[in-house]
Amino acid sequence: MSTPLPRPLALSPSRANDYQQCPLLYRFRAIDRLPEDKTEAQVKGTLVHAVLEEMHGWRRDERTYPAAVKRIRPAWEKMCAEDATCADPIADEMELFVAARELIRGYFFMENPAGFDSAEQEMYVNAVLPNGVPVRGFIDRVDVAPTGQVRVVDYKTGKKPAPRYSATAQFQMRFYALVYWRLTGVLPNQLRLMYLKVMDSLFLAPSREELEYFERDLGDLWDKILADGASGTFRPTTSKLCGWCPFQALCPAFGGHPPAYPGWPGSAAD
Ligand code: SF4
Repeated sequence: MSTPLPRPLALSPSRANDYQQCPLLYRFRAIDRLPEDKTEAQVKGTLVHAVLEEMHGWRRDERTYPAAVKRIRPAWEKMCAEDATCADPIADEMELFVAARELIRGYFFMENPAGFDSAEQEMYVNAVLPNGVPVRGFIDRVDVAPTGQVRVVDYKTGKKPAPRYSATAQFQMRFYALVYWRLTGVLPNQLRLMYLKVMDSLFLAPSREELEYFERDLGDLWDKILADGASGTFRPTTSKLCGWCPFQALCPAFGGHPPAYPGWPGSAAD
């Protein structure tokens, strides 16, 4: 039986962010694919996204706060049945359910889901941009107004960053706006990040020129990744974020030794 070919690499907002923070962190995650423990925040975010996705598939009159809250436990049980490691970072299930309920309450405070139907939820995108950059990811929600105006929505279950730290969030929104535009030919009119915890949103309205610049910057970033991928360089770049890096013990900047470079996926070095 032949060994399946590794999945070709593609840029997602998270992996682009990793490379911009530290090329070695990108390598560990995207190429070595080193295992990482789930965090409580990740699990909570996945649970709330699952409930909101399910709810947007119901009839309008069914989309109520109590009905959504009732789906927290079944969504959690489904998550754990599909991946038992989801439960690992959760010390107290009831605390998780209460936190998820508060986030869903925040969602209902911000908009009324009975007033519109979303066009897409958890939209999987996997494409190659015209400049050759492969991109992949999930768009939480896409709304299309009767006028044809398009809104791309992303739910955030963590804190809302101070304006000077919002670059990562804006990068993610521009990324999905660009991908949606290139896939459908329709430029989104609005990007909305919904911070459910603080019941506040971040809005962007990208112009065509802005997304063209962004696309060019993504092309430059992908070229750097490809160059590192060919040489295996992926230099460590320290910052205060190293304190949250799960691979510090393997990092040469902290006296560690990375595993041998496995080569670019799909290349002769595999
Ligand atoms: S510890 Fe810091 S420098 Fe080392 S891999 Fe992690 S993020 Fe990069």
